Amino acid sequence: MLNPVKLAQKLIQFVTVTPNDQGCQSFIHQQLAPYGFILHDLSTHGVTNTFLIKGRGPLILISAHTDVVPATEGNWQHPPFCGIIDNNMLYGRGACDMKGALAAMMTALSQISPQHCAIGLALTSDEEGPSEYGSKIITDWLNKQGLHPECTLIIEPTSNNKLGDNIKTGRRGSLYADISISPKANHVAYLPSDQNPVFEIMKMISALANLFKDPAINFHLVKISAGHANNVTPHHFQMRFNWRHDASLPVQQIKELTQELLLAYDAQISWTQGADPYQSQSNLHAKRMRDIIQQSEKLTPTFTHTGGASDGRFFALISKEIFEFGLVNQTIHQANECTSIQDIETLSNIYLNWLEQTDESFASKSDTQR
Ligand SMILES: [Zn+2]
Repeated sequence: MLNPVKLAQKLIQFVTVTPNDQGCQSFIHQQLAPYGFILHDLSTHGVTNTFLIKGRGPLILISAHTDVVPATEGNWQHPPFCGIIDNNMLYGRGACDMKGALAAMMTALSQISPQHCAIGLALTSDEEGPSEYGSKIITDWLNKQGLHPECTLIIEPTSNNKLGDNIKTGRRGSLYADISISPKANHVAYLPSDQNPVFEIMKMISALANLFKDPAINFHLVKISAGHANNVTPHHFQMRFNWRHDASLPVQQIKELTQELLLAYDAQISWTQGADPYQSQSNLHAKRMRDIIQQSEKLTPTFTHTGGASDGRFFALISKEIFEFGLVNQTIHQANECTSIQDIETLSNIYLNWLEQTDESFASKSDTQR
């Protein structure tokens, strides 16, 4: 049997800064091959992608990434790619995002022989980067093979304070607007103070920030530039805004309402969809995970869809259900990223329990259909 903590240490020792996999996925395949997992290498354009599958029947897909963000910032107490355990905490880049959870899942996968379903593990080395040739490629390939998951579980670190406190059943999308406005330039020696065009721009930004009252939608100004001379008012404003929005509000509606507001300012606008939102329509399998966590951790996870984008946006296109559950995210992408070794072991048991009960759920389904 695999040991999840030792495995997590080993995974951290691969310096897998996006998109360089450094043999990490080959190592994972070597570990799981003795347990009957079959390999499909879907690597392309310098991105390493691996799909491992075992069993027959409806597909349960586990999505994970082996890449990590760089560890060049901050003061690390322990070298970031050594996987050192100190005071029952495992330190290293990727400890929580997501090599600890991946080791927990690998251990669970080594212990299950599905009888009523197939279990797939999709790995990519480009989740933290542009994501152009990662899970998107895997999703296209699965689609072409007719492999549409009954459920996709993404093992991102969704827990906020305590293992199990949060399960994500969706993610918000990210929409950018680049806006340019060219008011008339005026010599400041001849213009009354209250007629500076900056005041109008400030009013516009404030109106945009208040355009949507829904707390699920965030609006932020992320870039602004204006002004070229010392004695004239700015004659060109360049701004970039970002909306984080959930799947309940159509992107088209955000665009239309924004454009309507900007009409008064004679603004040029161009849009970029950073990531599409997704929201699972069914929570059948996520509820099973919730029940298992309730029993094991004595707490009830909240179903949320906050936070940044994840590869769920790709798998959502081909999956009947999709959700995310993993380790505590408090130190992700920071110096001294670390996770409790107890959490890795507990998570491995929770994953195994969920896989076993999910496999069993397909048995009862085929019984009732008979
Ligand atoms: Zn991640």
